[in-house]
Amino acid sequence: ILILLNFIHKANTGCNNSTITSFIPPYQILSSLQTLSLDGYLSLKNNDNTAKDFGNIYHFPPLAVLHPKTVSDISQTIKHIYETGSSSVLKVAARGHGHSLQGQSQVHGGLVINMESLEGPEMKVYSGEFPYVDVSGGELWINILHGTLEHGLAPKSWTDYLHLTVGGTLSNAGISGQAFRHGPQINNIFQLQVVTGKGEVVTCSENKNAELFHGVLGGLGQFGIITRATISLEPAPKMVKWIRVLYSKFSLFSKDQEYLISLENTFDYIEGFVIINRNNILNNWSSSFSPKYPIQASQFNSDGRILYCLEMAKYFNPDEAEVMNQSVDQLLSRLSYILPTLFLSEVPYVEFLDRVHVSEKKLRAKGLWEVPHPWLNLLVQKSEIHDFAEEVFGKILNKDTNNGPILIYPVNQTRWNSKTSLVTPEEDVFYLVAFLSSAVPSSTGSNSLEYILTQNQRILDFCKHAKLKVKQYLPHYTTQEEWKTHFGSSWEAFVERKTTYDPLALLAPGHRIFQKSM
Ligand code: FAD
Repeated sequence: ILILLNFIHKANTGCNNSTITSFIPPYQILSSLQTLSLDGYLSLKNNDNTAKDFGNIYHFPPLAVLHPKTVSDISQTIKHIYETGSSSVLKVAARGHGHSLQGQSQVHGGLVINMESLEGPEMKVYSGEFPYVDVSGGELWINILHGTLEHGLAPKSWTDYLHLTVGGTLSNAGISGQAFRHGPQINNIFQLQVVTGKGEVVTCSENKNAELFHGVLGGLGQFGIITRATISLEPAPKMVKWIRVLYSKFSLFSKDQEYLISLENTFDYIEGFVIINRNNILNNWSSSFSPKYPIQASQFNSDGRILYCLEMAKYFNPDEAEVMNQSVDQLLSRLSYILPTLFLSEVPYVEFLDRVHVSEKKLRAKGLWEVPHPWLNLLVQKSEIHDFAEEVFGKILNKDTNNGPILIYPVNQTRWNSKTSLVTPEEDVFYLVAFLSSAVPSSTGSNSLEYILTQNQRILDFCKHAKLKVKQYLPHYTTQEEWKTHFGSSWEAFVERKTTYDPLALLAPGHRIFQKSM
C-alpha cells in the first residue's frame, strides 16, 4: 500500500525527490510536529481569524496554527515538514497582520505561522552615519514608527497604512508617497534574517547571500519567512505641511505630478487621487484642512465632475517653518491647479503617517471596515497613463458609483532596486493606480462585490486589448500561465530561486504560483 500511495503522491506532485519514500497524511505530520520542543505552541483549534483577511472574499481554514516565540520554533517546524517530504499535504503560510486581499496569507488544510507572536530580541535602533533599526519580521510598522521616534529617527519609506507587518509589506514592496524619492520599503533594507523552505536560518544582504536577499524582497513569501529585518532610517521631522489641490484636466494633473517628482528639491511626499461622483468635496476637507482662498473655495462646485486631487506634504521642524513655507510657495507657484481649491494643513508627523488609522476607526464604528474589499492595484507606465485614464476614469468607471478611493501617483523607477523580485513596467516613470473599493454585503447594485469584480475585470480586459504594459501590484492570478506572463523575462529566475530555497513548494501557497514540488 505504501508503494502505491507513494506512486500516487509522486504522480500528483510531479515530485521525483529520492528522499521521499512515503505519503504521510497531514494529521500524522501534525502529531509529529507536536513532539518538537517549541518555545511557542502549536494550536489545533479551529481559529476563524486565520481563514480570513482584509479582502474578506476568500476563506480557507488551516489545520493548525503555529504561534512561534522564537526563530528556532519556525525553523524546527519547517525543517520537520521538509524532511518528511510531504509537500503535497502540509503547506505553510506565514501570516503577518492578515491584510492581504485574496487569501495570500491563508492555507487550506495547512499550517499558518502567526508571525505577530514571534518575540525576537527587542527592537534596536542604531544612530550614526547610516542609522537603522533591527526588528522582528512580525513587527507592525506603527510600532516601528513609535520605537524609532524615541531616537529622533524614522524609516524613510512607508505604506499609507501602518498596521501591517514588516514581513507582509516586504513580501510585496511597500509603496507610498515617499517612493518616488526613496523607492519602496524593499529598497530601504540593509539586512534580513530568513527561514527558507528547507528550515535553514540564513542572514542575507546586498553582500551576503544576495540571491536570497533580492529574492525575498518583493518575493511574495515564496523563498523564505522573514524573521528579522534591518531597516534604514533618517532623522524624523516633528511636523508636516499637508496640501491638497484639485484639477479638472488629467493632463495638467499628471504633468504637475511628473514635474514635482523630477525635482531634487521638492515635496517629501507626493500622491494623488481621482474624485468621481462626490458632492461638496471641499466642504468635506474643511474639518482637517483650511482653504487658502475661503470665499472662492466656498463657491467652487465639484458636483458631478471628475476631478483629480494632487496631495503633497513637506516635512519640517517648528524652527524651520519660515524656510519651509517659502519653499512650498515657490513649488506651488509653478503648478496649474484650480486656484480656489488650494487647501493646507499642519499636523504632527505621527498624525500624518498614521492618517488611515483615523478612517479605520470611523469605518469600524459604522461596521464598514470588515466588508469585502475587491481591490485592484496596477502599475501603469508614463507613456500609457493618458490612454488608461481616458478609458478607465472617463468610460469604464460608472459615474453613479463611489466605492472607495482611487489613488494615482507616479514614481521614479530609476530610484528603485531592479534586483528584487518585484516586477514593474520598464519605463523610468510609472504610476501606481489603486482602486481601493469596498463592497456592501448583500447589495445587488453598483456597490455589490459582483459589480465591482466585473468592473475590475473590465479594466484588466481593456489593458490587455489595448496591449498596455501594465503590471499588477499585490498581484492576484489563478493559473501559472498568468504568473508566467506577470513575471515575463524574470520568470525563469523566479523559478530558479524557488527550486533553490523552497524546492517542495511549502511556502506561501495562497498566491497559487507553485502547486507542486520543483
Ligand atoms: P499578510 O496579509 O499577513 O501577508 C501577506 C503575504 O506576505 C502573504 O503571502 C504571507 O504569507 C506573506 N508574509 C507575511 N509575513 C511574512 C514574513 N514574515 N515573511 C515572509 N512572508 C510573509 N501596500 C502598499 O504597498 N502601500 C500602501 O499604501 C498600502 N496600504 C494598505 C492599506 C490597507 C488598509 C491595507 C489592508 C493594505 C495596504 N497595503 C498597502 C497592502 C499591504 O502592504 C499588503 O497587503 C501586505 O501584505 C499586508 O501586510 P500583512 O502584515 O497584513 O501581511
